Amino acid sequence: MTTQEAISALRKKHQLTQQQFADKLFVTRQAVSRWETGETTPGPDTLKLISKTFDVSINTLMGSPRRLICQCCGMPLDDDSISREPDGSFNEDYCKWCYTDGRFIYHSLDELVDFLVHHIPFGDKPIDEAKQFLTSQLSNLDYWRKEKAPQ
Ligand SMILES: [Zn+2]
Repeated sequence: MTTQEAISALRKKHQLTQQQFADKLFVTRQAVSRWETGETTPGPDTLKLISKTFDVSINTLMGSPRRLICQCCGMPLDDDSISREPDGSFNEDYCKWCYTDGRFIYHSLDELVDFLVHHIPFGDKPIDEAKQFLTSQLSNLDYWRKEKAPQ
């Protein structure tokens, strides 16, 4: 999907005319029409406004160019699981379980791994092996890389 398709789909989902859609965003109907024909693309500020107004992530608006994963626990993100800032805007780096009300839930990788190891089915794998596996996977994510970076 492209941005033009994503915007057109969003507008139709909300059953709005181009004019009604434009009014909500304080832009002209022509601007909306240009986005939908692909003649122009909304700038970063407008994308943010659309995201906030219609409760959809920027990634979705851009046609999902990135497969988002939580940079703390590694789970794939969609618009229902993406975390939010206290003002309600999306924080597209984390899931809502790792980042809530402007605060991170996990303060050490061990803490997270301890939690996950009991919630992910690992079959017959010994728990120490499962923990080692999780630790090696998760330590590559941004949140934990930052933790380890020298201050
Ligand atoms: Zn997470």
